This record gives sequence, C-alpha cells and structure tokens, in this order.
Amino acid sequence: MTDDVRMLQSNLYRAATTSLDFDSPGEALDELIQLANELTGSDRAALYEFDQASASFTPRFSEGVSISDLGRLSSTADHPVLREVISNHRAVATDGSAGSMGLPLAPGSVACAPCFTGDKTYGLMFIANDQGKAYSDEDLSTLDVLAARAAELLAFARQTASQNYLFHKLSLLYQASHSITGSHERDEAIRQMAAHLLKASSANICEVQILEDGTEQIRRFQQPLGQSVPHTVVTDGPIQVPNYPIHDQVLSELMPATINLQPPVGSGEDLALLQSEGYTAAAVFPLAVGNDPLGLVRILYEQPGRQIDEQEMELAQAIVNIGAIGLQDAIHLETAESRASQLQALSEIGREMTSTLDLEAALENSMRYAQEMLQAEACVLFLLDEGGEELVLKASGGRVMRVKDVAIRLEEGIAGWVARNKSPLIVNDVRTNPLYHSAIDAQTGMLTSSVLCVPLETRGEVLGVIEAINNPRGSFTKTDQQMLSSVASWAAIALDNANLFQRVAEERSRLEATLVETADAVVLTTPAGYIVLVNKAAAQAFRINAEKAVGRPADDIFFDHPLGESLMSQTLELPTTLEVTTPTDRTLYATISEVPDVGRVAVMQDITALKQIDNMRAQLLGTAAHDLKNPLNAIRLGADLLADAPFSEQQRKALDMMHRATDSMTSLITGLLETIRVESTANILFEPTNINDLIRRAIEDLRPLADAKKHTIQYVPPQESLLIMGDPNRLNSVMSNLISNAIKFTNEGGKIHVVVMWNDEEVTVSVKDNGPGIPEEELPRVFEHLFRGRAAVSDPNNPIEGTGLGLALAKTVIEQHGGRLWVESEEGKGSTFLFALPREATPKTGSLKPDVDR
Ligand code: ADP
Repeated sequence: MTDDVRMLQSNLYRAATTSLDFDSPGEALDELIQLANELTGSDRAALYEFDQASASFTPRFSEGVSISDLGRLSSTADHPVLREVISNHRAVATDGSAGSMGLPLAPGSVACAPCFTGDKTYGLMFIANDQGKAYSDEDLSTLDVLAARAAELLAFARQTASQNYLFHKLSLLYQASHSITGSHERDEAIRQMAAHLLKASSANICEVQILEDGTEQIRRFQQPLGQSVPHTVVTDGPIQVPNYPIHDQVLSELMPATINLQPPVGSGEDLALLQSEGYTAAAVFPLAVGNDPLGLVRILYEQPGRQIDEQEMELAQAIVNIGAIGLQDAIHLETAESRASQLQALSEIGREMTSTLDLEAALENSMRYAQEMLQAEACVLFLLDEGGEELVLKASGGRVMRVKDVAIRLEEGIAGWVARNKSPLIVNDVRTNPLYHSAIDAQTGMLTSSVLCVPLETRGEVLGVIEAINNPRGSFTKTDQQMLSSVASWAAIALDNANLFQRVAEERSRLEATLVETADAVVLTTPAGYIVLVNKAAAQAFRINAEKAVGRPADDIFFDHPLGESLMSQTLELPTTLEVTTPTDRTLYATISEVPDVGRVAVMQDITALKQIDNMRAQLLGTAAHDLKNPLNAIRLGADLLADAPFSEQQRKALDMMHRATDSMTSLITGLLETIRVESTANILFEPTNINDLIRRAIEDLRPLADAKKHTIQYVPPQESLLIMGDPNRLNSVMSNLISNAIKFTNEGGKIHVVVMWNDEEVTVSVKDNGPGIPEEELPRVFEHLFRGRAAVSDPNNPIEGTGLGLALAKTVIEQHGGRLWVESEEGKGSTFLFALPREATPKTGSLKPDVDR
C-alpha cells in the first residue's frame, strides 16, 4: 500500500467516521469545515445553506475567511462548476487557479461539493487553496463525504426546527384559546386576542375593528415598551384608520392578506397608505365565525425589510379565529344577560303597577323601568282624554320632556295611528315615514330618530299608547316591541284598578253624603259599638258634635240613654226596635240592625207628630165613649122599663132589637175604654204570677158558657210552679179573651185544649179549638183594632157577638209584658192562639214539655 493510498484511506476514514454531536448541529458543522480544510490541505473552507424562501444559498460557516466577506449565491448562478455539482450531485473542482472566478472563496483553486441527502440539496461545501494546485480525486472524494455528512446535519437541524415551531405554535394556540374563551366579556375577549396575536407574531401593533350596528370603532393594542409581562397590552381606544382597499376585500372574501414594502406585496394604493402610516409590513385578517363577519384584525410591523411568511399568517389567523369565537360567546352571553335583566325589569314594573294605588307614581316609575330596559332615550305614556280626541302625555322616563302636558290629536303622528289602529308600530327612520310629525318634537324638545309605539288597551278599548323614543343601537326590534307591549298590559291593569278604586271611592262618598243629609237620624258604630258616623239629623236631635263623637263608645255619647246601651250591648238580639226620646223632647222610633262588615246602624224616625195625633185620638175616643155611656144607659133603662108593657108581636121584636143594640153598643164602648186605658198607661203592675192560677181562673169563669154549648175544656196543670212577672188582671183578660173566642166561634160540642209549655227562659200557653179556623187572608188582620172576621158573621141572621177589640187588646198586654202573641190556624181545621212570656227565674230547670192532650 503506497503512502498516498494509505493517506487517502486514512483521510476518507476520518471524514466518514469523525463523530459529530447532533445535539449541537452548529458546532458539528463548524467542525466539518475545519476538517475539510485540514484533510484537503486547503486554506479556506465554507458551508452555504439553501434557503427556500429566497431560493439562494446563504453562507453559514467559514474557515480561513470571514463570513461577512462571503455573499449569497443564487441557486440559478451560471457557473459550470456549480451547474455540475447541482446536477450530478458530486464534488467538482476548478482546474487549478483558473476558472475559480464567480465562485465563493476565489481566487485560487476552488472545489465544491453538494450537501446532498435523501434526494435533496441542503447546501454547498467549498474549499480553496492559494498554491494553485488542482484538487485530486481523493480530495474531492473526501469533500463529498464531508458534504454528505453536513447534509445530514442540516436536514436534521431543519426537521428539529420545524418540530420545535409546531410545538411552539400549538402551545400558543392552546394558551390563546384558553384565555380568550374564558373571558366571557366582549372587551376582555378582544384584549386577550390582541395580546396573544402580538406575542405570536411579534408585531408592533395590533388593531381590532368590530362591525357593530354601523359604528366602526377601531381599537389599537401594543405591547408596552420595556415590559415582558405576558398578555399585557395597552390600548389607544377608538382611532381612525385610512381606507385601505385590501380591507374591503378581506371582509368580503373572508381571506387574510398581507402588505409588504420590501419586497413590495399589495396594491399601489395599499402600499402608499402603509408607508404613510409609517409601517413596513401589515397582515389583515377577517374576524369571522363561519360566514358571519364580526370585524377585521390588522397586525403591523415597523422593522425595515420585515416580511410575513405563510406560517406566521397561519398562526395569526388561527388566533384570530379563536378570538372570533370568544367574541361571539361574549355577545351571546351579554344578550342572555340583558334578556334576564329585561325580564327582571318587567317583573319590577308588574309589582309597581299592582302594588300601589298612587297611579301617577306607578306610571312614572314604570316608564323609567321601561326606558332602562329598552335603553331608549325616553319612554312616554299618553292617555286618551275624556272626549277621546287627544292623547295627553301622562308619564315619562329617561330624557325629561320639556313640556309636561304635551297633547297629540288622535289624527296625528305615529302615536295617533297606533291608538286608532290598536296595533303596535316600529319606525326606525322617522324622516322617511309619512306618519312622523315633527311638530310633536317641537313640543317635546326631542329630536326623534326612531320610535317604537304600542297601544294601551283594556277589554278591547284603547286607553292610550306607550312610546319608546330613539334606540341608541339604531333600531327597535320585535323583541323590544314584545317587551313594551308587556309594559302596556301592566299599565292597563294599573289604570283599570285606579278607575275601579275611584268609582268605589265616589260611590262611598255619595253614600256617605246621602247618609249625612237624610232626614232620618242615623248613627253608625263598629261591631263593638264605637261611633263611626253620626249624621246631621242625629247630631241635631241629640245635640251632639258629630265630628268629635267619631271613635268614641256609643254609651259615652248617648250617656245613660237606651240608644247608647242598645248600640253597645253585646247580648241584644238584632235587629230590634225601640222608642227613644231626645233632649229636645222628640220621640224617635229607632231600628237598630247589624250591617255586615261595618257594625251596627241605628236609623231613627221622628214620630213625635204621630205620637201627638195618637194621643189626641185616644183622648177624643175616651171623651166620646165616656159621653156616650150615660145616654146609652138611659136608653137601656128605658127599654127595660118597657119590658112589661102590653105590646104587639111586632112591637116586642123592636123592643128586643133595642135591647141587643144597646147591649152591643155598651160592650163596644166598654171595650174601647178598656183599650184606651190599657194602651195609654205604661205603668203596669209587675208581680210574680203563677201561670197555672191564671189559666184555672179563666176556665172557671167561662165554664158556664162552655157548658151551654156542650164544649169540653181540657187542661193539665204543670207539675211545677211556673212564675211570670206581670199584672194578673190584665193577663187574666188575655186568657179569658182567648178561651171565650174559642167557645164563641166553635160549634156546639167542640173540644178546647189549654196547654202550658216551658223552658228556662219562657212559658208558652196555647189555646186550641176545633172550630171553623181562620182564612189565610184574615190571619194578618185578626190582631187589628175593630177587626171582625168571617167566622163572626157566618150566620148573617145570628151574628156572633163581639167588638173586634179583644185580640188587639190581648196583643198589647202581652207585648207590654215583653212577650209575643200569635196564631196558627187553617180554615176548617180549628185555631190555636199562643202567647209566650219571659219566665221569672226559678232555681229549678225544666225542659220543653211536649204538647200532649190528656
Ligand atoms: P171579637 O171576638 O170580638 O170578634 P176578637 O178581636 O177577639 O174580636 O177577634 C177578632 C176576629 O178573629 C174574630 O172576629 C174572628 O173572626 C177571629 N177569631 C178570633 N178567635 C177565633 C177562633 N178561636 N176561631 C175562629 N176565629 C177567631
């Protein structure tokens, strides 16, 4: 083996086997070109790397020459050595020092080998010497091996770099999506997006423009100078940006675009605008979810020569897309929140409207709520006037109206139209609507641009309208209309309630006025007897200060007076009547009754005049009766004297008639006198009287009469002694009257039952016969003075004697004793007369005894 061969082998061996550190490819590559120099005996060596973006070879490492002295090498450089190296993938050298011009490392002999592996050229390796000796094949083989090893290193480094980049990108996107979608708030989502965009792109400025109901607000963000705190950005607030043609294109196509000054990318106008703004490069991204554009995002660079590559664009667009989703979420959330707060406001309005009777305040408050809810400039409520011709402003919320009582004629304007048609209306541009009436603006002092108007109805009748004026977002929506209609429903309820309340109040005051003015004296108390009202007549009659009496107990006002006692008494059974006298000596007939939910009312009629007439009548009757009695007696006496005279049959009949007539006149007059006596004297004797004694005496007295008509009288005396308080004589006349009527009206052989029943409070006596009974229509009249029924005249030739005064007198007597007298009868089936009297308390108790015949 020659030295050369050995050397070659050892050179190749070293070139192929020298270990390289793949963890630090830079150092390894540096080592490779040093080795190339050494093994080929060269003076200089260099490694160029292929750069895809610029399609050229860039010097990366050098030995024996400064890297800054080396220039780029176009991939299409026209040099025979390079052409051969690239097309044949093998090392080529110049022929000695000749032909090296145009190659790196020239002058001198220059050799070049491709860094070629896996079908791809990653770079070029150059060596050169100044001795002018041409490189041998062995040198070229060594260079080939070294270049191939450099290719592997370059390929490895590039792959690692792209993997690192991918990893970096993923982590950026993860962070961005985490913080943007977690923000839940529009401004925060935008801020987070800008911060991540600035970080990922290392741009100087990020601008975000949101398209929102025509307002084109743009916000600018930048990383604060000298700070490396992540996600801190400062914002300049709303700014103006020139009209770049590319912006419209990005928005319409929803595709991102770039503008570069060097090398120029973009239209002339865009480039000129970018330069005038002082930037070197810009990327514009659509901010969109699906096909819905929400806005534009622009990132701007200031470094000269800055270009934006595809990968950067891809990453930035991905962050912008996340931002768009975050923004949309935030908008959705805001909508949901504002819906919730609108519902809350509606329920406030409902509460307001139904919980107060102060209509004006309720309407005013609800207009305020409605204005806040719709965020309109103002909310106003008009009500139809009584004539139904004008809408009058009643309440407003928001911007205060200049004139409080603005009125709109029903034929006018949007409000008039809504009231006439009972139909809501949204007018989002009033200037183009023929209904709009600028005269109303002049009255209200507002400049109307948009209007939402809904009718205020109850039971199909229009009461007025509610208007929301000027929506700051530009236009009112159907949802706004629904909200305002709900407010209108509440307002209608409140108006209805208020009307109802007013009607009730009016009714009440009318009633009160009637009560106060009525001629009858009226006193109203609570159930416990505290004065609620004393009307004029009562105040005058009792000499009371009506106002001061209110709230005081009745027995304080009617002190020591039966009226006061009756109104306060909790045991008195109502209704009840009583005669009362006033300090002015008037007699009032009072009826005290219960008024549900109020208390008690005493209504008193002045019967003084009636009383006087009654007294006069009694006096007159008394005198007449008295004066008639004596001449009657004389006639009777005369008739008696004629009894023995020798008269003809006819004369004797006439004398008999005289007898009967004077008898019945006498008993009528006696009865009248008795009635007058009993009715006019209130001072009855009250002494404990045994009811059994009363009944026995009456039966004994009338026994002959009963026997004459062959009647049987049944009476079983009670086992215990029953006492009542009363006047024995008067009560005896009652008892006699009832039994004698039974005897009188019942045909011969009749049956008469007298029965006593009792309980702790009362003693009841009944007198029952099996006589003719009393026709139904006569029943209410039998207790009238001088009333004589059909039974009395059933045989016109032989009428039953009587005056028609007995039962009237009996009723008066029983009532004077605090009792009751009544009749139960049916024509043809006999009659039963009953009276009940309060029982005088005895220690014994008894139960109601059954009514048995024995
Ligand atoms: P008089 O007995 O004097 O007619 P009263 O006042 O006692 O007057 O009675 C009034 C009327 O009531 C009688 O005329 C009679 O028509 C009716 N009446 C009273 N008691 C009876 C009775 N037991 N049966 C039927 N009718 C009676």
